[in-house]
Amino acid sequence: PIALVWFRDDLRLDDQPALRAAIDGGYVPLPVYVHAPDEEGSWAPGAASNAWRHRSLAALDRQLRERGSRLRVFAGPSLSILQALVAFSGAQAVFWTRRYAPAIEQRDTMIKRTLRRQGLRAESFNGALLFEPWDLATQQGDPYRVFTPFWKAAVQAWRTPRPWDAPVRIAAPDDGHAIPDGLPLEALRLAPARPWDAGFWQRFTPGGQGARAALDAFLDEAIEGYATARDVPARRATSRLSPHLHFGEISVQRVVDRLRARSDAPPGDVAHYLRELGWREFAHHLLHHFPHTPDSNLNPRFQDFDWAPADEARLDAWRHGRTGVPIVDAGMRELYATGWMHNRVRMIVASYLCKHLRMHWRHGARWFWDTLVDADLANNTQGWQWTAGTGADAAPYFRMFNPVTQARSFDPDGRYIARWLPELAGIPLPLRFAPWTDPRTLAALAPDYPRQPLVDLAAGREAALAAYRACASS
Ligand code: FAD
Repeated sequence: PIALVWFRDDLRLDDQPALRAAIDGGYVPLPVYVHAPDEEGSWAPGAASNAWRHRSLAALDRQLRERGSRLRVFAGPSLSILQALVAFSGAQAVFWTRRYAPAIEQRDTMIKRTLRRQGLRAESFNGALLFEPWDLATQQGDPYRVFTPFWKAAVQAWRTPRPWDAPVRIAAPDDGHAIPDGLPLEALRLAPARPWDAGFWQRFTPGGQGARAALDAFLDEAIEGYATARDVPARRATSRLSPHLHFGEISVQRVVDRLRARSDAPPGDVAHYLRELGWREFAHHLLHHFPHTPDSNLNPRFQDFDWAPADEARLDAWRHGRTGVPIVDAGMRELYATGWMHNRVRMIVASYLCKHLRMHWRHGARWFWDTLVDADLANNTQGWQWTAGTGADAAPYFRMFNPVTQARSFDPDGRYIARWLPELAGIPLPLRFAPWTDPRTLAALAPDYPRQPLVDLAAGREAALAAYRACASS
């Protein structure tokens, strides 16, 4: 018998529970991918994400072919494609791993119900998380809204199942089945027509092999000292696994398993890394239980917050790294060039947008959505709402990152700024952190860099605090 293995954000063979269910259940797996971005509601994947997915799907197909199978690619609607494939192949089962974006949860529930009504075995599995969002609840039975107790409960409940190794050969349906070949991957038009993504691939290699190589490099070179060095954006001190985890090219169980196998790694660094994975779990927990949060504040107090009106010129300056505040501009240029930004700098640029410029966090979340290769509805929503102060367990709104102090602390030798803003490389320290304070040197050494920041930092801070006070007392 045949089982459709419906690949989605789980583009791997290793430790892939849907594939495992097919193989262990004695089925011949028929691997399929259905492109249906309009089923994602208002959060259809952005441009950087699409560029990554194109390469990741190609890598998955290569891996399957090496093992005797192949990936068949179709364009949606998902339900009709799956039904047609069942009809052609005579498949008796459809297996997939779960996703947690609200529109997808609803769609998948509908698909499961429909397929089951047709008498098929339709089953979904946890392939993305250490804990399902419904596995953990407070003593009152409510979802957690604060990270520390969430993570404490998670650590107590922890069971680490052994990751599953995919077999070396994977059977494919024989030619007797008139299964459609599907589309060439190029037909999905995920890859950019112009190669604006070239810089991404100097840093990243999409696919399972790239994910394993990134994990190996991290374990060999950066796990030791991670707890402190992870905040220094000029260093390669974090794992850069986020896009690989988002696309499910490596399972989080596999990451944990490999981490724990490194008995030489300092326990404090290992614990800190696991805690970061914990934030990922927490973000998915929140998205599942509070599905409105990609579009509106989790904390209702901010319902009537006085955000500044959207100002396209200011937003554009922020997006393209022309605010005049070097650490902010460096981060935004790193993002545009590589599809990724260091976590510390994400917090700085987000805080600057929501507080100093008082723009609604949604503007920032949308730009990140389009430009990040790791754009993830759970992590992005939680990252923005946390920084804006509107989310669960958020930094209080009145606590603002001062971008100059942040740069001095975390980029003390100005290397990160110089890498992404080469026009400032000749500006001596400490002027590089706040070049507007010496307009003559700035004009002489970096004539193309903005002479003044978009807003005076002290004035921006005061205006944000005033808006917060008005909202807090209303
Ligand atoms: P590492 O330090 O190596 O951490 C390991 C893994 O833990 C990461 O790959 C990631 O999966 C997870 N992780 C780490 N920090 C966080 C966090 N704060 N929240 C959730 N998961 C975390 N991460 C995304 O994956 N997608 C996003 O769209 C996203 N948007 C963000 C937006 C803002 C405004 C902020 C402040 C953070 C955002 N993050 C997002 C979280 C974080 O910045 C990235 O996960 C991290 O920088 C990825 O780099 P890394 O893999 O080297 O991290």
